[in-house]
Amino acid sequence: MDNETYLQFPALQTLARRTDAVTVDCGCSSPELDNWTSLPISFPEEQLRVIGTLVRDAYSEATFEEYHPHGTTLWSAEAPIAPLYFPYNRCTVSECVVCQRAYLRYVEGGGYFVDPRIRRLRSGVLVDVA
Ligand SMILES: [Zn+2]
Repeated sequence: MDNETYLQFPALQTLARRTDAVTVDCGCSSPELDNWTSLPISFPEEQLRVIGTLVRDAYSEATFEEYHPHGTTLWSAEAPIAPLYFPYNRCTVSECVVCQRAYLRYVEGGGYFVDPRIRRLRSGVLVDVA
């Protein structure tokens, strides 16, 4: 896989389950990043390897609609990870080359304001919705 590979839902689910099963302490695992977080200064970004993308079509604007059927917000730890909705539809998927946890990343910003954000992929909140 390379960073242009679109990850279908089953592939994402496999990565999420694998991530859930990793219990070893790693430079990437504290804090656990259950919710979207601005990339912490201390995060070992060099351990991340991009393995795919959730951007379906680089040439058309993806929706900014979010998916929160249970009243969560973008920042909630329990917010669903719905790959077709914002911000997941702008994410790349990376794995830690040390422990194999998988992470979603996207860059929030416009103009001079740029905020790289990261969230750990978890099967418990991953949902397949159209
Ligand atoms: Zn790690």
